[in-house]
Amino acid sequence: VMASMAHLQEEKLRLQEEVVGLQEKLTARENDKLSHSLQLQGQVETLKAKLLEQAQEIGRLRSELGCTDAEKHRDLLAAENERLRQEMKACEGELRELRRRQQQQAPCQDCAHLQENTELQERLSQMQREAEETRAKLAELDLEVQQKTNRLAEVELRLKDSLAERAEEEERLSRRLRDSQETIASLKSQPQQIKYIIKTVEVESAKAKQALCESQSRNQYLQEQVGMQRQVLKEMEQQLQSSQKTAAQLRAQIMMYEAELERAHGQMLEEMQAMEEEKNRAIEEAFSRAQVEMKAVHENLAGVRTNLLTLQPALRTLTHDYNSLKRQVRDFPLLLQETLRSARAEISQAIEEVHNTNRELLRKYRRELQLRKKCHNELVRLKGNIRVFGRVRPIMKEDGEGPEAANVVTFDAEDDAVLHLLHKGKQVSFELDKVFPPQASQEEVFQEVQALVTSCIDGYNVCIFAYGQTGAGKTYTMEGTAANPGINQRALQLLFSEVRGKAADWEYAISVSAAEIYNEALRDLLGKEPQEKLEIKLCPDGSGQLYVPGLTEFSVQSVEDINKVFEFGHVNRATECTNLNEHSSRSHALLIVTVRGLDRSTGLRTTGKLNLVDLAGSERVGRSGAEGSRLREAQHINKSLSALGDVIYALRSRQGHVPFRNSKLTYLLQDSLSGDSKTLMMVQVSPAEKNTSETLCSLKFAERVRSVELGPVSRKAELASWPSQEQLEGLTPGLCPVSPQGDSPGTSAPPGRGHASPSPGQLSSRAASIRRKLHTTG
Ligand code: ADP
Ligand code: MG
Repeated sequence: VMASMAHLQEEKLRLQEEVVGLQEKLTARENDKLSHSLQLQGQVETLKAKLLEQAQEIGRLRSELGCTDAEKHRDLLAAENERLRQEMKACEGELRELRRRQQQQAPCQDCAHLQENTELQERLSQMQREAEETRAKLAELDLEVQQKTNRLAEVELRLKDSLAERAEEEERLSRRLRDSQETIASLKSQPQQIKYIIKTVEVESAKAKQALCESQSRNQYLQEQVGMQRQVLKEMEQQLQSSQKTAAQLRAQIMMYEAELERAHGQMLEEMQAMEEEKNRAIEEAFSRAQVEMKAVHENLAGVRTNLLTLQPALRTLTHDYNSLKRQVRDFPLLLQETLRSARAEISQAIEEVHNTNRELLRKYRRELQLRKKCHNELVRLKGNIRVFGRVRPIMKEDGEGPEAANVVTFDAEDDAVLHLLHKGKQVSFELDKVFPPQASQEEVFQEVQALVTSCIDGYNVCIFAYGQTGAGKTYTMEGTAANPGINQRALQLLFSEVRGKAADWEYAISVSAAEIYNEALRDLLGKEPQEKLEIKLCPDGSGQLYVPGLTEFSVQSVEDINKVFEFGHVNRATECTNLNEHSSRSHALLIVTVRGLDRSTGLRTTGKLNLVDLAGSERVGRSGAEGSRLREAQHINKSLSALGDVIYALRSRQGHVPFRNSKLTYLLQDSLSGDSKTLMMVQVSPAEKNTSETLCSLKFAERVRSVELGPVSRKAELASWPSQEQLEGLTPGLCPVSPQGDSPGTSAPPGRGHASPSPGQLSSRAASIRRKLHTTG
């Protein structure tokens, strides 16, 4: 037993040693474990630091590259957002611009705003869609984060479980260790039963050994498990950390996105709100405008309706009218034919009637014409067909100065037919048909003459003589100046215009001849040989009319033609003499205008002659002993002027014999002086004192010519014969037989314009002369 005791003792010691060793080992292991865990903690710390570094690095890299999908997406969204915001701004700018324009302009008619509005709305809806999409993506991301969080929670749960397991295992091991220690302690406290106990211990130590082995292996296993778990835990922790980090990042991002989204959403809402308001406003405006327009349209419509209502009856009446017109049009050809037939009949009847009336009228017209002619002749006869006018020229430079150039002629303000001449201190008065004072114009003179001129168109012969001393204004009155033409040109102009006026019924031909009588020789001023002397002959047809063979007659149609004729006559006259002025004052110049007319309707033919005569100077030459040609000239002039006086006297006193043949002038003008011809004597006088005696002679001549008409008895008693130029020279105012004062014993004839009623014989002779002139073609 002792031996076994010793052995047990030894065994116990060994076991004790073993337990101490085990304890030491355990402690060492625990120490190891502790250091290991410390080491592990240090490693975890360094890893954490590294992770942080890496995360920072990644963050930096990310910030550099912006790599993750979510970030890319976010950036894209941000860019999109930015773009949308800019677009929105642009839209706002456009909107503002549009509003500004709208304010400036009148509201547009075609509603471009509406279109724009719809565009904007479309864009808004697109943006809303995009926001929706972004929201969906965000929800997806949220889901992903949720999933990851869930997984993390799971991992954490598992980690907790394994930690709890490990804690349990450790608990269990420490419990067993305490049990073992308690067992050892109890064994130590029971030494008296050593042998038995040793045995037991031995038995038990085998078991303990086995248990120890088992526990050691278990311990080994558990340690491995712990290591593994630690590894897993570490990984898990790492994962957790990274997940947490990612989650935090994602959360931050989400927050950011959400905030951004919120803001964008807010902005969008605001913009949408603004746009909505804008839209509403625009719509309202458009609506109100449309309403106004609609109202106007309605009003128009109402007006149109009322118009339509009023038009309907009109339309009905129009339709009715139209129908009746249609009926009329249908019936019209028949009606027309009928009407035409009756109208034709009526017209032919009317034509017949008109024809008859016309015939009757024509007959009456012819009778009236004859009657008118007769009456006219009677009127002319009553008025006197020889009229005497006086014209006083103004005092001129040529009259000189001093008493010789003093004015001796005065007029009666009340009576334009009276003229007073201061002669030898006495005033002698003369009464003519009319007196023209110096200021009378060519126009005024012609006014008084034109009735004579136009009667030439009716077939009368007219003579207009300019009588007076040289320088008294004869040529001025007849020819005038280029600027202020005289009777010649004005008469022809008047004839042209009268003829034109009657052109509808009458056909007229006007021709002109110009002749000169010098020293009783007749010469043609328009002829090819002006120096040739022409003869006056009786017409061979037995009509008793005179004609001048070889006298040139130019047909004239216009004033230009007349001017050419006058010019030609002047040239001819000028080439024939050395001193034209002197020559012209010594010769009679004649312009003979013949007017031949044909009445188209009646076939009546008329011929009238207008003789415009610029007589030679009436001054008395020869008194102072003129000789030779000068004396001959004076004698010829004297003779011809006396002959003119004789003829006029004979005509006026209706003597059976009229001495036409006593001079070339009266012979040539025989036709135009006799019968119902009309004569005008324009007596020209100078008002200068030095010309007084010539003026006196001229005025006496004028008055005598005029007073020829004073009735046959007294005429015969007074003027048995016409005084010659020489006799005129000897007359003094006091002895003047026909002086207006009637102071002469022989001048008992009543002054004024007495009329002698013509005897039946005289009338019949005038009628015969009319017949001679007016012969119808029928
Ligand atoms: P006559 O022909 O009688 O010898 P004129 O006709 O040659 O006289 O006239 C002589 C001058 O007197 C001309 O220079 C003419 O221009 C001028 N004369 C004549 N009568 C008038 C008048 N009524 N008004 C102005 N000047 C006149
Ligand atoms: Mg003259």
